[in-house]
Amino acid sequence: MRILITGGAGFLGSNLCDRLIHDGHEVICLDNFFTGRKANIAHLLQHPRFELIRHDVIDPFKVECDQIYNLACPASPPHYQYNPIKTTKTSVMGAINCLGLAKRLRARVFQASTSEVYGDPEVHPQTEDYWGHVNCIGRRSCYDEGKRCAETLFFDYHRENRVDIRVIRIFNTYGPRMLANDGRVVSNFIVQALRGEDITVYGDGSQTRSFCYVDDLIEGFVRFMNQTEIVGPMNCGNPGEFTMLELAEKVIAQVGGRSKIVHKPLPSDDPKQRQPDISLAKKVLGGWEPKVPLEEGLKRTIAYFRTQL
Ligand code: NAD
Ligand code: UDP
Repeated sequence: MRILITGGAGFLGSNLCDRLIHDGHEVICLDNFFTGRKANIAHLLQHPRFELIRHDVIDPFKVECDQIYNLACPASPPHYQYNPIKTTKTSVMGAINCLGLAKRLRARVFQASTSEVYGDPEVHPQTEDYWGHVNCIGRRSCYDEGKRCAETLFFDYHRENRVDIRVIRIFNTYGPRMLANDGRVVSNFIVQALRGEDITVYGDGSQTRSFCYVDDLIEGFVRFMNQTEIVGPMNCGNPGEFTMLELAEKVIAQVGGRSKIVHKPLPSDDPKQRQPDISLAKKVLGGWEPKVPLEEGLKRTIAYFRTQL
């Protein structure tokens, strides 16, 4: 197949490019390089089945393809809050442009949605039928509400125009090719530990997240895109749940060194807990479940950052 990946030069996008090239597909990577890097896809530039397009998803685009993965959107809070209006435009207009293209081409289109659609959840663990607890006017709203509106558009195009959609809700994922200055917690802690700096735990560190290693998530992406039982929304992630203090201690234990934990203010609307219920994914993805435990994933990610710093 010929497959378009928007946001293909980012962390998840570039790992997906590798996987789809490996599977024998033609891959078109479209990116505006806001948080993506040419370095993430440099090894693919000479590949005969790989093409790169510098473009912004808020402007319409035309390519011929069989499938579209829409990943374009900054994912880390400092980056998506840098220009919040642009973040909403990217989610909403990016969705409209991908859906319009998919409608014309009769292509299947995949939306990288997020656990953020559940906001600061009052239901734990989060199941797909939970509608969420989201502030629509806070610092995180540009991302949360942008992604919620994108889901709305996906389901309206599906109902109104029979567009063949797949909507996946991704929970915190980490691994090689995150940026050192990404600002998300796993890369922050690893980079700080490798530099011998203090580890910045926001708040008292009792808030929880569930961390999925990138290879497990990408396997889930490809299986979900190519099954025909459900269109989603479907949670994808690793249900192992850890406090940020536990994560900091695990990183310090693996990296060694003299880093101390210091506490910084908790950002506004920071969700207190997050854990995916992945029963649906296990059922429809042919026995899929995450295989890489946090310790092993941290080991691989630390090895990657050692080569970068
Ligand atoms: P990332 O920031 O590394 O990748 C995003 C990519 O999109 C970058 O290459 C960036 O340059 C590109 N991009 C941003 N705005 C664009 C625009 N207007 N036009 C074209 N390209 C644009 O983040 P990631 O972790 O790889 O996330 C990829 C997708 O997965 C995002 O949509 C994100 O919301 C979603 N997601 C990720 C996670 C996670 O834990 N990694 C969790 C939930 C959802
Ligand atoms: N966090 C932290 N220190 C950091 C970066 C993040 O304690 O240096 C916390 C953050 O407040 C949140 C959790 O780690 O509670 C996950 O943050 P991240 O930005 O990775 O993702 P999200 O909040 O979107 O899940």
